[in-house]
Amino acid sequence: KLSKRLQAVANLTHPWRRIADIGSDHAHLPIYLRSTEQIDFAVCGEVIEGPYEIARDHVQKSGFATDLQVRLADGLQAIQPEDRVECAVIAGMGGMLITEILERGVDQLRSLQALVLQPNQNVDVVRNWLAEHSWQINAEDLVYDEGHYYQLIAAVPVSQPLHYQPVELLMGPKMLGNVEAASDFEKYWQFQLQQKQLVLAHLQQATQPPAEKIEHVRAEIKLIKEGLD
Ligand code: SAM
Repeated sequence: KLSKRLQAVANLTHPWRRIADIGSDHAHLPIYLRSTEQIDFAVCGEVIEGPYEIARDHVQKSGFATDLQVRLADGLQAIQPEDRVECAVIAGMGGMLITEILERGVDQLRSLQALVLQPNQNVDVVRNWLAEHSWQINAEDLVYDEGHYYQLIAAVPVSQPLHYQPVELLMGPKMLGNVEAASDFEKYWQFQLQQKQLVLAHLQQATQPPAEKIEHVRAEIKLIKEGLD
């Protein structure tokens, strides 16, 4: 059984049958998707020897070694044209690292039909990268798992770069106004709002209040309030 976070990632891979899981670690996601017959094939990419060996071991034991190819490779380089991968998953890493992986994999990205991303932080940076590189966010989710909230993004290629509003970059174009996810969304952003307000209060009490930081936090508070409205 997958964690709630990985289950939410798995849900966003529908309807794709050939996926790449970049930074696969234990290969939990592809093994689950293959054993539940939700995919036919997966590349499990790992850049570090240790997790690569663990992934290979788990795949061997799962009995799906023909359909799940474990590869030691950096980012999207794990994907070969003959794999006919439709959707790449990059989950459980920081948004900066995910953006770097996408940036270094523009050649492989051209052959993909979907991306499923779960950045642990800097989700706005990832949304902005997608928009600038002509990927449209077509589904999002937000889940609470083991004391943390996680934001998830699915995107598809479009013919032109897009432009998201600052509130959409921060909170997610598909999360804003998503009635199904409304209660977690509200809880998460109310919590964020309180945190930012505390930070602001601390900054303002400093002997030399840092004007730029204060302005930045104020702007974030304004956006969150706008999104919660
Ligand atoms: N994707 C899994 C999940 O969501 O549970 C595992 C997340 S784990 C915290 C991140 C994994 O990404 C690590 O195993 C790490 O070695 C791998 N990783 C980091 N940078 C990578 C890169 N450039 N290419 C492939 N894998 C990478």
